This record gives sequence, C-alpha cells and structure tokens, in this order.
Amino acid sequence: MPRIRVGIGYDFHRLVGGRKLILGGVEIRFAKGLAGHSDGDVLTHALCDAILGAAGLGDIGQRFPDTDPKWKDVSSLELLRRVCALIQEKGLRTVQADTVIVAEQPKLAPHFDQMREKLARTLGIEPAQVNIKAKTTERQEATGRGEAMAAHAVVLLEAI
Ligand code: MG
Repeated sequence: MPRIRVGIGYDFHRLVGGRKLILGGVEIRFAKGLAGHSDGDVLTHALCDAILGAAGLGDIGQRFPDTDPKWKDVSSLELLRRVCALIQEKGLRTVQADTVIVAEQPKLAPHFDQMREKLARTLGIEPAQVNIKAKTTERQEATGRGEAMAAHAVVLLEAI
C-alpha cells in the first residue's frame, strides 16, 4: 500500500422546506434544509466519501445504508467520526482535505471557520488542514435555482 493516498468525494442533496440546513456540522439559518436519511450534510458526506475512497474502503452508501434505521437523522459528524475510526484501523490518517460547496444561497463564507473547526476536530487534525470553498452555478442547474446543493472533496491520507 502506498504511504500517501488520495481520494475524491462528491455528493448532491435536494433542498426542501421543514429541514434544518446543516453544512460541515454547522447549523445555518436558511428557509430550507437538505433532504436526506441523515441530517443531509452534503459537505460532510463528500468528505466521508473522499476519505473512504482514499483508504479503499468503498463509499458512504455501503458503510451507512439509508435503508438502515440506525442512521435516520444521525449527525453526519458521527458518520465522519466512524470513517475516521475505520481508516485508523487500516493505519491511515488524514493529512489534508480541500472541499467545494456548490450552492446559490445563503452566503456560506461567514461559516467556513466554524465548519473547518468542526470537521477538523472530528478528524483529530488542525483546522488549517481543512479548506472549504463555495461556488454558485450562476443561477443555472438545480443548485443555481436553489433546489439543491452539491459538494466536492479531495483528501490526502498517509500511513501512520
Ligand atoms: Mg449524502
């Protein structure tokens, strides 16, 4: 197994009324939230998938199936914590993560520091090792029409 491993993650969730908006483990005031079996945290899901991918451990859907009532409304940070434990068992740790949230609204930059703090703490690393960016799709596509949000993540893991 190589000492350094890279992983990519992508996720997409619909925005619906009557749900809290949770991104990177942070609750953000907004009229809609992300639909999902868990809390719908699209950023944390993309990050989980990137880490699982880098470790060769499949994906979030295999690990935490949405048919399992155990994961109903679960905090996605709890899923990330479990992903972190899985890679530790394989002798790996996260060195760095870079992410992009795709959303038209609300403004997310004011929440980046808190998201980095939450994600980094869950992974047992420093906030400086986690980067978060946001992009709009210029009012195009489901994300641009405010019907959904997406997220991309790339991570680097190393053998402990
Ligand atoms: Mg998801």
